[in-house]
Amino acid sequence: MYAKVIVDITHEKLDKIFEYSIPGELEGMLKVGTEVLVPFGRGNREMRGYVVGFSDVPEYAPEQIKEILKCEEDKRAIESKLVALAAWMKETYGGTMIQALKTVLPIKTIKKTIKKKRIRLLLTKEEGKERMDFYLNKNQKARARVLAGLLEQPEQEYGLLTKKLNISPSVINALKEQGVLEITEEQAFRNPVKYQKKEEKEVLFTPEQKNAADTFKRDYDSGQFGTYLLYGVTGSGKTEVYMEMIQHVVKKGRQAIVLIPEIALTYQTVLRFYGKFGERVSILNSRLSGGERSDQIERVKNGEVDVMIGPRSALFTPFKDLGLIVIDEEHEAAYKSEQVPRYHARETAIMRGKLENASVVLGSATPSLEAYYRCEKGEYTRLTLARRAARQALPSVYVTDMREELKRGNRSILSDRLKGLMNDRLKMGQQIMLFLNRRGYAGFVSCRSCGYVVKCPHCDVSLSSHKNGMLVCHYCGYEIRAVKKCPSCGSSYMGGFKAGTEAIEELIKREFPDAGVLRMDMDTTRTKEGHERILSAFADGEADILIGTQMIVKGHDFPNVTLVGILAADMSLYGDDYRSAERTFALLTQAAGRAGRGSIKGEVVIQTYNPEHYSIEKAAAQDYEGFYEKEMDYRRIMGYPPAAELLAVLVTGEDEKLLDTAVRYLKEFALRAGRNKDLQIIGPASPFVGKVNDIYRRVIYIKSKDYSALTVMKDHMEQYIEMNKGFQTLKIQFDFNPMNIF
Ligand code: ADP
Ligand code: ZN
Ligand code: ZN
Repeated sequence: MYAKVIVDITHEKLDKIFEYSIPGELEGMLKVGTEVLVPFGRGNREMRGYVVGFSDVPEYAPEQIKEILKCEEDKRAIESKLVALAAWMKETYGGTMIQALKTVLPIKTIKKTIKKKRIRLLLTKEEGKERMDFYLNKNQKARARVLAGLLEQPEQEYGLLTKKLNISPSVINALKEQGVLEITEEQAFRNPVKYQKKEEKEVLFTPEQKNAADTFKRDYDSGQFGTYLLYGVTGSGKTEVYMEMIQHVVKKGRQAIVLIPEIALTYQTVLRFYGKFGERVSILNSRLSGGERSDQIERVKNGEVDVMIGPRSALFTPFKDLGLIVIDEEHEAAYKSEQVPRYHARETAIMRGKLENASVVLGSATPSLEAYYRCEKGEYTRLTLARRAARQALPSVYVTDMREELKRGNRSILSDRLKGLMNDRLKMGQQIMLFLNRRGYAGFVSCRSCGYVVKCPHCDVSLSSHKNGMLVCHYCGYEIRAVKKCPSCGSSYMGGFKAGTEAIEELIKREFPDAGVLRMDMDTTRTKEGHERILSAFADGEADILIGTQMIVKGHDFPNVTLVGILAADMSLYGDDYRSAERTFALLTQAAGRAGRGSIKGEVVIQTYNPEHYSIEKAAAQDYEGFYEKEMDYRRIMGYPPAAELLAVLVTGEDEKLLDTAVRYLKEFALRAGRNKDLQIIGPASPFVGKVNDIYRRVIYIKSKDYSALTVMKDHMEQYIEMNKGFQTLKIQFDFNPMNIF
């Protein structure tokens, strides 16, 4: 047996895995992730490495292969657990070990940490002035200058102050001896959280919150580290429950990771954690510079951090003794990586939890079908918060049928009902959010008169219109000529929904000239702080109406918002993938949940061409269970996750002919390799965007009841691809249970 070893965990060196032989006395003792000492380079320097895999057949001549010197037994090295996690990710999601390691291991940047000295005045203003007179009387001008400077600004950088005032160190030292000032050394590592710790108001838990937290604590204390789904309606106080759980874990000397979708990672959210855990909270997000990020990792390694908050990648924070991983808004598509390995944070967190004896808490008002399904099967423990925390009622929801509006001659994008309610709110000085559902795909074609949508007869997803005048299914490749007249009612109102946020903003300003309007979309949030600025302006009442895309759905509490209007609720319904109904239900429910967070009950208007669709009906009724039942029926009948497992094999290349030939071969290979197995192989089809930057794309879908049948198939395909020259110029990626279509 031979072991594959990475020798140094820096990003630069990760591009090579070395092969070592395993001496007899170590046989059976090595696992993936085990730390070993190996001879390295010409001088056979002893170096530390990690086992990342094994092979029976060596790649090099056996006499050239060196032997592992020894293994470090049962070290609690954090790296070895992360290496083991990487190996699991490679196995579960495809890609190379190097790609997996690069995802998992913290960035190691070599850089000096700058320590800045600061000077701080220790006297009050009155004392300072008295002391100043004293110096002036004694003609101690340098000392007076320093004091005057500090009275203006009581805390200053050492270098700046001495330079600015032309002061020698002896003067500063003299003042220090006299107790006028102190010299502090700034924290070696920058903490991006720069808030004052404030006293958190104690909340009195509702019985549901208490029950959820107690169940977790009881299990935790008895050494049961499991996975929980905290299923709580919008505003039910999930965050408070997370914090209680985290505190329990932190009190026992362990650490916690909190994953939050980047978009919801606002000042307001971080402040709540900071209020409870103070300096021992850190954040990682894409707005931090590389230096700030590696500072946070250093702080973690130094044991200065108990709670790390961040988006998906924060999952790999190298805590020494991780006790809990929280995933807020667990249903969000952002938890699935779009780079190889295309891991899902939920499953990966659960695996990390297993490796480290940590618990995992998933939270959502609209759980992913996967999470709810696993609860039903008893794999996760469900903790339910059915009521809002401050006892506010859930909002009343009205569905307006835009087909009826059209019949009555209202061709505006606002229904009469929504317009009327908006006028009411503006009169009362309450705030309004208008949510434009842009999550959909411009490709689908529907009838504005009857709501009919053109779908694939085989896959039950909507067809997308292509430039060549065809309507195409992106799963199986089925296509028909585009229809001009509605096949259902004969009207000629066939088309897509095109208005963007900007057009809507103009329209709203025309309809309501006296109202203050803010718009939040990709354009207005391009700058670093754009997102935060708009949200806080709206929170401060600087505008009456906030118009936005799904960005406005989460992250902030606006107690003065009493009306939410959802425009084009159907948009996301006709994305041509199997998750569109789920996504629609979640978006509508979350958007509706923004209304009535304060003391006044909220109202919601959902505008749709398709009021009968179950995802709209159930969202309006705020009935998750009802939605779940319907949607699971669909997934079971069609064989989509979580009822079955789905593997997408995405192949891309510049030469379309070659690509088509290769993909055909690949499919034939898959059919052969999968013979007599319980597999269904579909495609190849052109994905939604068939060509990007002159790179052509094709997808093969493979369905099975059994995940491991798919990983075996992936391994076979990887070998086949490696052995065949025809694939050399093509790129092949695997995506298990994809969140989006390609
Ligand atoms: P969620 O994360 O479920 O949407 P939050 O944790 O943000 O809910 O809570 C919603 C609001 O209710 C917050 O303003 C929070 O401070 C408040 N809250 C939470 N728990 C309680 C409680 N037990 N009593 C009173 N207010 C609470
Ligand atoms: Zn029609
Ligand atoms: Zn189809």
